[in-house]
Amino acid sequence: MGKIDRYHRQALLPMIGKEGQSRIGRATAAVVGVGALGCTSADLLTRAGVGRLILVDRDIVEHTNLQRQTLYTETDAASGRPKAHAARDRLRAINSEIEIIAHTSDLSSENAEELLDESDVIVDGTDNFETRYLLNDLAQQEGIPLVIGGAVGTRGTITPLIPGRGPCLRCLEPELPVQRETCDTAGVLGPIVQMIGARQAAIALRVLAEGEGNVPIVLEEFDAWSGQTRSIDLSESRNESCVCCVQNEYDFLDGVGVGRTTKLCGRGAVQVTPPRVGRVDLLAVAASLSKQGAVTSLDGLVRAVLDGELAEIGDQVELTIFSDGRAIVKGTEEASRARAIYSKYIAG
Ligand SMILES: [Zn+2]
Repeated sequence: MGKIDRYHRQALLPMIGKEGQSRIGRATAAVVGVGALGCTSADLLTRAGVGRLILVDRDIVEHTNLQRQTLYTETDAASGRPKAHAARDRLRAINSEIEIIAHTSDLSSENAEELLDESDVIVDGTDNFETRYLLNDLAQQEGIPLVIGGAVGTRGTITPLIPGRGPCLRCLEPELPVQRETCDTAGVLGPIVQMIGARQAAIALRVLAEGEGNVPIVLEEFDAWSGQTRSIDLSESRNESCVCCVQNEYDFLDGVGVGRTTKLCGRGAVQVTPPRVGRVDLLAVAASLSKQGAVTSLDGLVRAVLDGELAEIGDQVELTIFSDGRAIVKGTEEASRARAIYSKYIAG
């Protein structure tokens, strides 16, 4: 059995054909964030025969991931394996003919170009806006199509961002949003992440097989529970004064928009100062954190002791959140872990 046989059913499709299949086989795709969405899209891209697949994730596999993150097993969770490496091993077992590169790292302004600039398409599997804005900067600067996705509860959305056609993320939302529901506070249904991840993979394959020129610039929304779908045409949504795609200022890639973390020596704590956020709604933050541990509100700040297991963060940590969005994460001295906890539970 040769290579053609494996992809025979896909190459039969008139929109792909042998030509499209060979373009897919020469292409590099990146999946950033190998959580629920990323597991599904990476799986489909691997099976479809993308020549080179780059995986980036900063997290380890947790027991509560298994409900929806389809590349992982109980063994991965029990040993707390890094997701990028666990995913790579599983994907290699599915398709040994393609190249799979795993990076267990926190995508940042320092490493984003090095890790991703050879990508022909980037699929967003992240769970936070900070990384998504960084990806948007990189995609615009390098001219790489980026397929944004997100799912919370029973609903999810997909937005293809094609440089030079339609809007970028900052055309749609100029500043980093604060305080929203996440999978960690609102829950998430397994099937919706599969739907969103699968649709992201389909858009990525279309970009690779026939180029990005035909991809519809449409925000798509699905509800896996009610079956409702909605689509919003974004082809005219480019902001003519956008700082990113018009003025070519890449704040997040330049590190300007990414906030700061400061290690508080001797306290086993890290202070996280977010970039350019307004005031945080402490009541809303307290309400959502109360599902992950004990929360007290006092003197204009919120203090929460997060249960490590419930919150999927390993060991217990104590958060102190101020109304200006600043937070002290006690129980770690690692800036990347503090930033991850911050974006997971306070503001992405
Ligand atoms: Zn823009």
